[in-house]
Amino acid sequence: MPEPISTLPAGRLRSDPARKIGKIASALLDWFATQARDLPWRRTQDPYAIWISETMLQQTQVKTVIPYWQRWLRELPTLAALAAAPPEKVLKLWEGLGYYSRARNLQKAAQWLVAEGGGRFPNKFDDVLALPGVGRYTAGAICSIAFNQPTPLLDGNVVRVLTRLFGIRDDPLKKTTNNLLWQLAGELVRHANSIPPRTGMATPKAGVPLAGNCSQLNQSLMELGALVCTPRQPRCELCPVNQTCAAWRTDLVALIPTPRPRPTITHRRCLAFVVEQRGRFLVRQRSSGTVNGLLWEFPNLDLNGEPLEPAALAKSLLGVDGKLTGPLYRLTHSITRYRIQLDVFHLILPVRAKSPAGTWMNLAALPQLAFASAHKKILQLLLAGGPGGGGHPCLALSRRVPPVIQSPHA
Ligand code: SF4
Repeated sequence: MPEPISTLPAGRLRSDPARKIGKIASALLDWFATQARDLPWRRTQDPYAIWISETMLQQTQVKTVIPYWQRWLRELPTLAALAAAPPEKVLKLWEGLGYYSRARNLQKAAQWLVAEGGGRFPNKFDDVLALPGVGRYTAGAICSIAFNQPTPLLDGNVVRVLTRLFGIRDDPLKKTTNNLLWQLAGELVRHANSIPPRTGMATPKAGVPLAGNCSQLNQSLMELGALVCTPRQPRCELCPVNQTCAAWRTDLVALIPTPRPRPTITHRRCLAFVVEQRGRFLVRQRSSGTVNGLLWEFPNLDLNGEPLEPAALAKSLLGVDGKLTGPLYRLTHSITRYRIQLDVFHLILPVRAKSPAGTWMNLAALPQLAFASAHKKILQLLLAGGPGGGGHPCLALSRRVPPVIQSPHA
């Protein structure tokens, strides 16, 4: 009976696991050549375009990313275009993906490469890793996919595939286990690099020439995790590596990777105000350096356990009285361990009242701005009930919108 790999010493893998690595790498390359999905970033070897796709794909589903990536590449097709773009435009192109520091880091890196790096995307792993916002996963992905270098990668999908394939039951985030997983990912991509490339072939699904073996191997691990070796109900019967899979052979698939304890959920309750005066609406831009920095939002506050007294809270937030109605609707959204309930009120200020500080815009002009996700949802609801939607925007909204709207992240 082969020794469980989690007990192996660090360093090179011993012969049995090494043979297993060879079998897995070959099977994955064969499978990927026939089963790879046709994704737009698989039709390019441009490191800039691949960098953008890999950054967008972190914690976001492929189908969500496709239109974002296509729009980004249309608007900012080169490093130079990204470096020179107004930050507002960069945020607008990222709007809705969340994790806005990633967009800011992309631009920071592009500006550095244009100013100091000769305007070219680096092709050495350490240089890629040194870019703002680029970690070991992203550097490995870019170098393998764009330059066919044997640089490993490890994301949630790959961790799940490797822990199951090798029967690793320790916590994947534990340092020694994580090192072992990186080692396995490295062995796989280095083995793929030693196999003669199958030049000239095209993937039946993608219809584009096959990339190099390192690119394919890494992408096949992620593809297997996304399509076959899924968190729940993996399709083991159809899996190209089931004959070598320790979890499948020992009927432990459901137990690997070891489930992590769920973080304690904290509930928060917030209010937002759609403030209207003389047909214009009040919005404010968050300061740079804060969460969602430079994004726009409607005036809002966190109740922090205080009683819900919307009129008094509106007065303390805005310094004026007005006609308050609502809540017009309720949004619920999650940010990490926080579950946030956001109640939205409509506040109409008298024509002659002093206007609170902020930016006042017509409803039709607001979509030009990049909003934090929950506030973009508010805007979409306003627009849905706005001109052409029948009647006063906010009143229409209260009739037409379901009372609770889920938003994946702020
Ligand atoms: Fe995952 Fe099942 Fe394939 Fe093993 S056999 S790698 S558990 S899909």
